Amino acid sequence: MPNKTLGLDNRLYDYLLSVSLREPEILRQLREETARHPRAGMQIAPEQGQFMALLAQLLGATKTLEIGVFTGYSSLCVALALPPTGKIVACDVSEEYTATARRYWEAAGVAHKIDLRIAPALQTLDDLLAAGVAETFDFAFIDADKDNYDAYFELSLQLVRTGGLIAIDNVLWRGQVADPQVQDSSTQAIRAFNEKLHRDERVTLSLLTIADGLTLALKR
Ligand code: CA
Repeated sequence: MPNKTLGLDNRLYDYLLSVSLREPEILRQLREETARHPRAGMQIAPEQGQFMALLAQLLGATKTLEIGVFTGYSSLCVALALPPTGKIVACDVSEEYTATARRYWEAAGVAHKIDLRIAPALQTLDDLLAAGVAETFDFAFIDADKDNYDAYFELSLQLVRTGGLIAIDNVLWRGQVADPQVQDSSTQAIRAFNEKLHRDERVTLSLLTIADGLTLALKR
C-alpha cells in the first residue's frame, strides 16, 4: 500500500525524541522508575504523554477521565497541562501501582487535581452517570483491560461532552491485530473494537500510529 505511515527504526525514533520531547524532570524520574517495574510495558511512551498534554490544552480541558492509571505517567502529563482548577477522575483497581502514581502527583504539586477511584472502572463510570455528570468531561483516556474496551468506550461516550475527545490506547497491539494467527481474547477484543469504531457515526475518528496505536474519537 502506498503512502503508508513510516515505521520508525531506533535511530529515527531517537531523533524524533531529540528534537521534540520536552519532558519535565518529574516525569523523567517517574518514567525511569517505572522502567524497572516488572510490568513496565504498561507505561505509555513519553512522546505520547506530551501529545496527550497538547490535546488537553487544545480542548481547553478542565475535567478529564482516565481509565487505567498504572504508575501515573499519563495522568501526570494531563494533570500538568490542566489549569489549577482542573480535575481528573482516575480509575484503577491496584492500590500497589497507584501508590507510585500518588507519590509523583504529590511531588509534582498536582495531587489536588486527581480524584483516584480504586474500584473496577465500570463501577466508577456507572457511579458517575448515576451522580448526574453525563456530558461534562472534556477528555477521556482509555488504557485498561482490553476485554472491557467497548464497555469503557460506551460509558465514556456518555460522560464526555459534544466536542469532547476519547483517546484509546494500544489499538495496534504490537501488530497482533493484523496477524490472523493471534486469537487470544485481548487481541480479539481490540480487533472487534477497532472495527466497530470504524463504522461508528457518533464520533469523528482518527487512528494514530504513535506508540502502540492511539485512536482519537471526537464526540459529535
Ligand atoms: Ca497502554
